Amino acid sequence: MSVFDHAEFDNHESLHYFFDDKTGLRAIIAVHSTALGPAAGGTRRWVYASDADALTDVLRLSRGMTYKNAVAGLKFGGGKAVILASADTPKSPELFRAFGRCVDSLGGRYITAEDVGCSVDDMRYVREETEFVSGLPQSGKDAGGDPSPWTALGCIQGIEAAVHSRLGADSLQGIRIAVQGVGHVGLHLCRLLHDAGAELFISDVNNRNLEMTLAEVPATVVAPSQLLFEDVDVLAPCALGNILTSSTIPKIKAKVIAGAANNQLSTPADGLRLAERDILYAPDYVINAGGIISVAGEYYGSSSEDDVRADVGRIKERLEKIFNEARETGRPTNELADDLARSIVAAARQ
Ligand code: NAD
Repeated sequence: MSVFDHAEFDNHESLHYFFDDKTGLRAIIAVHSTALGPAAGGTRRWVYASDADALTDVLRLSRGMTYKNAVAGLKFGGGKAVILASADTPKSPELFRAFGRCVDSLGGRYITAEDVGCSVDDMRYVREETEFVSGLPQSGKDAGGDPSPWTALGCIQGIEAAVHSRLGADSLQGIRIAVQGVGHVGLHLCRLLHDAGAELFISDVNNRNLEMTLAEVPATVVAPSQLLFEDVDVLAPCALGNILTSSTIPKIKAKVIAGAANNQLSTPADGLRLAERDILYAPDYVINAGGIISVAGEYYGSSSEDDVRADVGRIKERLEKIFNEARETGRPTNELADDLARSIVAAARQ
């Protein structure tokens, strides 16, 4: 499997494959950039159709983390880990301890936290083997713990900015919002959106997560295959990436796309496709930075919850700037965000 010729290879600094004989753990860690600090990004545990799919995912996700951390103004570079899940390697404390030893072997070049398929509890086992992990339970008013509520907070504020910019509305009262995926972030986001008066449409491939959400907020359940094309004002992707493509974009009715999922665009050209349809896209790594802002506050030990709340609040300002620039220049929002991120990393390299 070629790495250097891979379509998603973007001068990644290093790539690490791990296998643990005892637990069957198979994992890949990609360090995209350490220009701004240690490469930080969560661990995704997922059943991949092939090793090649896992490689593609980790290459894309780690680059996205470099951009996310740069734009959020954090002292973190970008990295990501994927654990290749299978029926033979169920979640267990020993599996996460083995993964913790993998992280530790990189000596601090990579700092992990939870992502899809992993929880705060899993990170506790990782912590038994390495100090290079964040997103652990905290006490008192210290920053940290589960990043998902902070991601959801940044998302709702970003949705407010996008709705104001594209629809001219000053609140989310009566705004129809489709949330794809009601897992850790999606559930928190649904709570906040409901409190803000939005009308909710939700989908998930996991019925238990749907039921947990419906127990808390009223929502219309939509089939996963239909959610993207629902007749709503806002689409909030909170599941997996690669959903905005040349075949899905022409059928989308929402005027705003703003949600937590990483790598929502299949290719950068899909950002242009959205702009051409006058759909306002909130660049994923800008709107979903709330979690890593909390992780950074916890890792560096210098922040309180109030500091994190204030920092997360700046996501909205950043998005407003991007939306205004897009309106003035006619350029797609994803291109403007990528330019900003690259310029920050380039300045750090000098
Ligand atoms: P999660 O695993 O808790 O939730 C994802 C949910 O999406 C699950 O309930 C899953 O069943 C559902 N899902 C998967 N495929 C689906 C489909 N085709 N249609 C509908 N639902 C589907 O993960 P999470 O932590 O909530 O993260 C959600 C997304 O946000 C991911 O892309 C993640 O990388 C991104 N993100 C998360 C955080 C965070 O703080 N957790 C931070 C930044 C970005």
